[in-house]
Amino acid sequence: MINHLPLKIVDIIESITGKGTAENPIPLHEPDFTNSNATEYLNNCITSGWVSTAGEWVNKFEKELANLTKAKHAIVVSNGTVALRLALKLKGVKANEEVIIPPLSFIASANAVSHLGAIPHFVDIELDTLGISPEALIKRLDECSVLKDGKVFNKNTNRKISAIMAVHIFGHPSRVDELRKIASVWNIPLIEDCAEALGSYRYDENSIKHCGLFGEIGTLSFNGNKIITTGGGGALLTNNSDIAKKARHLSTTAKKNHKWEFEHDEIGWNDRLPNINAALGVSQIEQLQKKLKTKYTLNQIYTKAFENLEELYTLNQPELCKSNFWLNNIILKERNDSTLKEIRNKILELSHQKFIYTRPVWKLLSKQKPYIKSPKGDLTNSEFIEFRIISLPSSTKIYS
Ligand SMILES: *Cc1c(COP(=O)(O)O)cnc(C)c1O
Repeated sequence: MINHLPLKIVDIIESITGKGTAENPIPLHEPDFTNSNATEYLNNCITSGWVSTAGEWVNKFEKELANLTKAKHAIVVSNGTVALRLALKLKGVKANEEVIIPPLSFIASANAVSHLGAIPHFVDIELDTLGISPEALIKRLDECSVLKDGKVFNKNTNRKISAIMAVHIFGHPSRVDELRKIASVWNIPLIEDCAEALGSYRYDENSIKHCGLFGEIGTLSFNGNKIITTGGGGALLTNNSDIAKKARHLSTTAKKNHKWEFEHDEIGWNDRLPNINAALGVSQIEQLQKKLKTKYTLNQIYTKAFENLEELYTLNQPELCKSNFWLNNIILKERNDSTLKEIRNKILELSHQKFIYTRPVWKLLSKQKPYIKSPKGDLTNSEFIEFRIISLPSSTKIYS
């Protein structure tokens, strides 16, 4: 029972993005180097020969990230997945322990847990931020945990619950102020996946704070589809100097500092961001304020364009937050499951026919093959929203 809604929606999207063609499609999100110093900085790396894991651009990029976020330390690494894996390792997560994560996220959030041999444990989200619901977290910890020697264990699996990972979806800050309180009551470390949230803030009592500084470590990604890109890249943010020091050590093969000797005091990783990528990063961060303005405007335009369609709503900035509006989304209200899927699929099909690459939200992590057997609480909200979200083209190039 398809109505005219999908066509109407796709027409509205097209009126904002312009027409797509096979040669010039409208991507969901693309890198934007317009009017930037990218070429100059990259040339500088090539002519100086400093292209690899040491060089002034790495230091410069780290400094810029720390300045922007007001984190005491920023440590850049080769991608966002690696940053998450390092963050979990630094907070002591080990094999056969569990890490609480939301089921609505990109697969990297779960994979980073698995890369340490640990197991994701899914806790439901709330519908206005799309991040972990503090209420669901309290409920889940109450129903499944036992305390042993001050540590929290899942009584169904006998595994230690060793961290909570909040994820800020689409750049909208989740309720990390509340999550932090719960985490501290249970004495479980909180880390934040801010891969999508550079430039996003939440009020914390009376001051505004960048995402990633509510828990003990925050992580960023500079993949090609994020708000700024280094080609591939990531970072850790922390106010803890010990953690920062350990992060640098572990991400550079755990080599002891010496002019010529090669001595390594544990098994480290080769995770550092090459200088050439950092150079691109500096040219991108110089443009962040401009990008944030464009993102905000694009969100206003989408919101206004869809405001009279009763069948959906646009996802907006949660209360007490400043969002970076990385990705715009519409949420379908249809209550009937099969009609909903028909409408959703038709929107995707029609827009792709027009070379406008809208995208559904990720299939829930709890339903992905590697994670089907992972422990989970009640996931009503995640399951409710899964087929309702459609992401809209949101490159800064659309409106600049
Ligand atoms: C992009 C992303 C990551 C992973 O970052 P990469 O740099 O691609 O490894 C992790 N979590 C979320 C929520 C992301 O969107």
